[in-house]
Amino acid sequence: MRIEIATLFPEMCEAVLGESIVGRARRAGKIEINCRQIREYTQDKHRRVDDTPYGGGMGMVMQCEPIYNCYKSVCNEIGSKPHTIYMSPKGKIFNQQKAIEFSKMENILIICGHYEGVDQRIIDRIVDEEISIGDYVLTGGEIPAMTVVDAVARMCDGVLSDEMCFKDESIYSGLLEYPQYTRPEIWEGESVPSVLLSGHHKNIEKWRLEKSLEITAERRPDLLDIYNNGKQ
Ligand code: SAM
Repeated sequence: MRIEIATLFPEMCEAVLGESIVGRARRAGKIEINCRQIREYTQDKHRRVDDTPYGGGMGMVMQCEPIYNCYKSVCNEIGSKPHTIYMSPKGKIFNQQKAIEFSKMENILIICGHYEGVDQRIIDRIVDEEISIGDYVLTGGEIPAMTVVDAVARMCDGVLSDEMCFKDESIYSGLLEYPQYTRPEIWEGESVPSVLLSGHHKNIEKWRLEKSLEITAERRPDLLDIYNNGKQ
């Protein structure tokens, strides 16, 4: 899978995507991620990529041309149109289902807005969908894009050591995860639940499912309803 990120702050994205599991997966060639500086695609001699909004109002709006040139360059390189996402608080809320959907695509281009956002005409021309990471407004699309890329990348072939690493997690499994424990067996007088030390796999599985159901019922009854309906 190949993910292109169009941003005014590629260093910010590289700092995140060069580390940990995603960084290792990139270096091992399991996933290709390129961060593109939108300013590289402007004809403006001062490398300006924004201007004041028509109709007046606060802030600046990112112009169509640099983003469009960046998009065309990606299209030329990959030989087709990438699935193009604009990170926006006006978009559809991102969730695990979307992450699964994106992880099955070959080429994705993510556009990060800044300031007041981007000129509507570039959205109308090239964007397949607008995605939000939640009902709050951030200063730029980079952190939202990193959220999407991380959630998608960990489901791509070979990024995690085993599919179970992501299938057995909160949300993906349909439930919130059971509590986890590690050494020491007793910490500050608190013991690990004895069933986890028993070596009895069936009982451990049963305990984990019970805990998952309990936590999901308490914190996310909406998920539990979906889970129960899916089982019928
Ligand atoms: N004027 C825009 C509005 O009211 O909808 C908000 C612009 S915001 C300050 C700047 C950029 O940050 C947006 O263009 C978008 O790319 C990104 N952004 C901010 N909040 C976001 C969110 N919740 N999800 C995804 N992207 C977000």
